[in-house]
Amino acid sequence: MTTLNNKEHVVILGAGPAGLATGHELSVSGVKVSVIDRNNFVGGLCNTNVHNGYKFDLGGHRWFTKNEDLNNWFRRLMGSEVVWVERISRIYYDGGYYSYPISILNVIKNTGLVTIAYAGLTYLLSALQYSVFNKPIKNMKDAYVAQFGGKLYDMFFRRYSEKVWGLPCEKLSSDWVSQRSAGLSIWTVIQESLLKTKSDNESLIEEFMYPRDGYVRIPERMAEDIVAKHGAEAIKLESTVTRIKYHGPNDFEVVYSDANGAETSIPATTVVSTIPLGVLPRIMEPACDQAVIDAARGLSFRALVTVNIILKKERVSIDTWLYIQDEDIIFGRLHEPKNWSKAMVPDQSTTSLVLECFCTKDDHIWSMTDEEIGQRCIEDLEKKLKFIDSSEVIDFTCVRTLQAYPVYDLEYADKIAVIHDFLAGFEGLHIVGRGGTHRYNNADHSIEMGLLLGRKILGYEVNHMDVNTEPEYHEIKTSRDLKRDYYVVEEECN
Ligand SMILES: Cc1cc2nc3c(=O)[nH]c(=O)nc-3n(C[C@H](O)[C@H](O)[C@H](O)COP(=O)(O)OP(=O)(O)OC[C@H]3O[C@@H](n4cnc5c(N)ncnc54)[C@H](O)[C@@H]3O)c2cc1C
Repeated sequence: MTTLNNKEHVVILGAGPAGLATGHELSVSGVKVSVIDRNNFVGGLCNTNVHNGYKFDLGGHRWFTKNEDLNNWFRRLMGSEVVWVERISRIYYDGGYYSYPISILNVIKNTGLVTIAYAGLTYLLSALQYSVFNKPIKNMKDAYVAQFGGKLYDMFFRRYSEKVWGLPCEKLSSDWVSQRSAGLSIWTVIQESLLKTKSDNESLIEEFMYPRDGYVRIPERMAEDIVAKHGAEAIKLESTVTRIKYHGPNDFEVVYSDANGAETSIPATTVVSTIPLGVLPRIMEPACDQAVIDAARGLSFRALVTVNIILKKERVSIDTWLYIQDEDIIFGRLHEPKNWSKAMVPDQSTTSLVLECFCTKDDHIWSMTDEEIGQRCIEDLEKKLKFIDSSEVIDFTCVRTLQAYPVYDLEYADKIAVIHDFLAGFEGLHIVGRGGTHRYNNADHSIEMGLLLGRKILGYEVNHMDVNTEPEYHEIKTSRDLKRDYYVVEEECN
């Protein structure tokens, strides 16, 4: 193990879960860290917005990981703040409600035996094509069809995926499916829903942990520990990193500007970046060449407008999430924060909803005013879903997020490879996190990556880049799940 000397200063770009986890792991070991974020809050995409006492996550965020050791770390961090939430997710499709993950019995109930027989036939056909004749899987559509057959793909995956990504599934990489649902076979679905023979070692998750006062409490807890160890100046908010000057191995200068545009430069022996991988190479000095700039510009994100509605009504739905397939409804997913934790609303005779409208900067949704998006959401809730009466709406707000979903187009992996080659020339620079690696991470992945990177910087032989590459479906718990004893234990934290 390398011993870091007291001149070591690790500068972390971004105070989202990944940056804070790296900072947490290093600071509990006594290493000086500075975490810099452009926002005026910590948490990145895991923020919880508060409006008149109502708390709204940026889309429903649950805590779930198959890594029991990480769960233990999480429980130590959050102490008594954790609540357990029963998971009830449904898909709204052509006017009907279907349970999610898909249940065969439920599909039969909603659509009848003819549809399920047709779904079975298309599955057999795709099994023949992809498993027997080895038809190549070239894109997201192929990956879903190979796993579920053409009919179930069309019913449950095509429209929602296209709503999230704004592109036809043929133009998206199959990697997203393999990261999200590899190992989820049609047989698991049948076993779960039809035979109800959940074996001891394999089942779809039915409850999850959640911080009582909103998801932002996870990054806030990490930030509290960092500040307790190194003082408030360890976390610099409203500070946008604009340049990183490299003077040689482990010798950097990080330049950031505050809300008034005033620039500050701080020295760093190690730099950890969670800012988008498409941005980082373009702020490095010495500068990159045109091929790297082109690759970096090519890594895009889907944006998100979340509409947070407060309602004079005790409850709207039973769901933790409701996925909306239908294109004529502007939002793609909704959740009712009260169903996750009662503390999310200040008055239990009222409730609230968070509606996620997926979009791209400057497209027709992004270009609508907050008032227009809000009113359209209320109209869809009232007239199409029949969930509310518009007179029950007390208030609404909109939150706009530009870098919500890293897009996996068909060339994304090649572009990432070009950027990795360039960044490899900067000794002491590390990338981590969702936008930081352009990888579709959940918060637990970003935290796990951050903790491992902290360990790596401390000299342990671990590779944070392995996280979220396991070929196992995230939502199936099995007895084979990883148990890694990498994280600092409680005694060391004190
Ligand atoms: C709608 C939605 C629902 C989700 N649901 C779940 C869920 O249920 N469970 C789950 O585990 N995960 C969920 N996620 C994913 C989760 O939010 C992310 O995985 C997690 O926030 C990623 O953390 P990160 O630190 O890697 O990145 P981020 O949270 O994106 O943090 C990056 C930080 O870098 C900062 N930054 C960027 N550029 C600069 C710059 N130039 N200078 C300074 N700072 C900069 C940003 O302000 C940001 O704070 C969801 C995400 C979305 C969008």
